[in-house]
Amino acid sequence: MSNLNPRQREAVHYVDGPLLVLAGAGSGKTSVITRKMAYLIEQVGIPGRNIAALTFTNKAAREMKERVSRLVDRKLARGLTVSTFHNLGLNMIRQEHAHLGYHPGFSLFDAEDAKALLQDLMLTDGSADAGDELSDIQMTISNWKNAMRSPGEALSKAADEREQRIAIIYNKYNQYLKAYNAVDFDDLILLPVQLFRECPDILTKWRRKIRYLLVDEYQDTNVCQYELVKLLVADRAAFTVVGDDDQSIYAWRGARPENLAQLKEDFPSLKITKLEQNYRSTSRILRCANTVIANNPHVFEKALWSEHTIGDEIRIIRCRNEDAECERVASEIIDQKLKQGLEFRDFAVLYRGNHQARLLEMKLQAYQIPYRLSGGQSFFSKTEIKDAMSYLRLLINPDDDAAFLRVVNVPRREIGPRTLEQLSHYARSRNVSMFRALSDLGAESHVTEKGLDRLRRFAHWVDNTCRRLHEEDPIPVIKQLFTDIEYEEWLHQHSGTPKQAERRMANIWYLVDSVQRMLDDGKGTADEIGIEDAISKLILRDMMEQREEEDDSDKVQLLTLHASKGLEFPHVFIMGLEEEILPHRTSIEEGNIEEERRLMYVGITRARETLSLTYAAQRKQYGEKIETIPSRFLDELPEEDIRWEGQGDLDVEANQKKGKATLSALLGDLGV
Ligand code: ATP
Ligand code: MG
Repeated sequence: MSNLNPRQREAVHYVDGPLLVLAGAGSGKTSVITRKMAYLIEQVGIPGRNIAALTFTNKAAREMKERVSRLVDRKLARGLTVSTFHNLGLNMIRQEHAHLGYHPGFSLFDAEDAKALLQDLMLTDGSADAGDELSDIQMTISNWKNAMRSPGEALSKAADEREQRIAIIYNKYNQYLKAYNAVDFDDLILLPVQLFRECPDILTKWRRKIRYLLVDEYQDTNVCQYELVKLLVADRAAFTVVGDDDQSIYAWRGARPENLAQLKEDFPSLKITKLEQNYRSTSRILRCANTVIANNPHVFEKALWSEHTIGDEIRIIRCRNEDAECERVASEIIDQKLKQGLEFRDFAVLYRGNHQARLLEMKLQAYQIPYRLSGGQSFFSKTEIKDAMSYLRLLINPDDDAAFLRVVNVPRREIGPRTLEQLSHYARSRNVSMFRALSDLGAESHVTEKGLDRLRRFAHWVDNTCRRLHEEDPIPVIKQLFTDIEYEEWLHQHSGTPKQAERRMANIWYLVDSVQRMLDDGKGTADEIGIEDAISKLILRDMMEQREEEDDSDKVQLLTLHASKGLEFPHVFIMGLEEEILPHRTSIEEGNIEEERRLMYVGITRARETLSLTYAAQRKQYGEKIETIPSRFLDELPEEDIRWEGQGDLDVEANQKKGKATLSALLGDLGV
């Protein structure tokens, strides 16, 4: 514990009651959590299996796990839960599925599956073209679930006709999920909460299991997650949560920074510790962060200071257009890397929206700069992996209609859309899944003989493979599956080049290896899992890691500001500092600048040594060139800490600003 500061140490040692660590970026909140886990195990004597630490992204969970494994002996740490909220929820549902009315091997619907289901429901409803509305409906339902609002409540509380309609769809959507033996992402938290409220015995069991709870990034919990925390900790209140209200950037997804204030009301004995020393950034970077965020109103006052050197000025680079902007970032990276002997992984480029990365990727490729894109085409979003995952999903849950539909014609089985439509209709009318409907498909289904025959052959093969999966060693059965369906041939027919097809097949074998590894990992221990659990774990990883791929090699990191939370990099670029980008146009329209400013704060505070902000003077929008307006956040930066760079007319302005800045610095030095 030697290198913790006194406040941090106090937070680590405090176990007499509930604790909230409220502190700004880079002050060591996550460090307190990891050190506290070690302390609880080694000094307080709580077994690892009775401690749980929760966070929001897989990446953050992975990093926490790594940090803890460096601090605690492996044996002692056994059974320790370090996971995302959703992963914990999944474990709970898996163990308690019977009480929730689910069969083993239930499916997880990712956003795409859920959307397809919604679309289907709306089409049968007669609401013709769903289009844009679909995302809106999906978002509304998700928000309701996160606010723990049941379909019944949503209907009775509906503010207008639109909400009424969505509430009705919500109800049907839930019914279908249940019929498919499936849960969606939001259910992973909601179902355990509902279960715990209804079954005190089960809750008691989980309370016994989790004797101490720690939560990172607490400001991002939504109503439902907070409820889960409250249920688990009960009156015993053995917990530590850490957070920073200035980094709350998920309000649009139902996060409630108010949960920070709520804690004091719900747990009057709550102790609040503040950390004020920042260990991450240079003084200039920190000063920029502090002055920007000072423009937001504050409930909790925090002042961050740093012992680091003053550091380089923050560069604001004006570029001609978006093309020049990306080019500049790429050439800067090469330049700085060479001059300072850095590695590619020392750099991160952050931006407001994923679309901004496309052009940047092209430039990085042109400069042969290796990069890792978070939120781009990840492993699990590759077509072949989606196919393979759907086969696996179908094997562990034949009622999973989304998976069924994805694979029924991959490779081609000549089962036409009309046949599928009739099958779907027949299944709906009997309220069973499509696969189940197959077994008693009669003449009244209107499916042609030929169609029927093909469907039955497919069903027979699935049945057979399912049976073997459970009776035999599962890995060879899975491998055989891909041979059976002649998937490699299919890939060759559907890939540009033979090389591409080989790469895609290699991805499939990598996936099979992952299943094998999961089965092997727990073998012979209490963590031993079966094939169904391994596959559902993989499905969750798929859902979460659509945005986060594991990769430690030397690459520049490209990620959205949202995805960058909790992380740190020596050299950071933030692109697109323009009005309507950062702050985002919808936020401007809705008058929600404060959340955008927090996003800016998160971005600035990721940087350890240097920070460069870029913007394009001109940008193409909807095919038209427009003159942009530099972001208002640039004006909020302290002049003495920034340096403007750019060309043309703006140089004059920049020089003037710079002149002013140097003058004021000079006056400052002279004590004027
Ligand atoms: P964020 O708000 O961005 O999540 P945080 O408060 O969780 O930040 P950490 O990530 O825990 O901060 O710490 C930031 C950096 O400071 C890390 O590199 C960490 O190792 C380092 N650090 C934390 N505490 C100390 C300390 N007492 N002495 C030296 N370095 C420290
Ligand atoms: Mg942190």
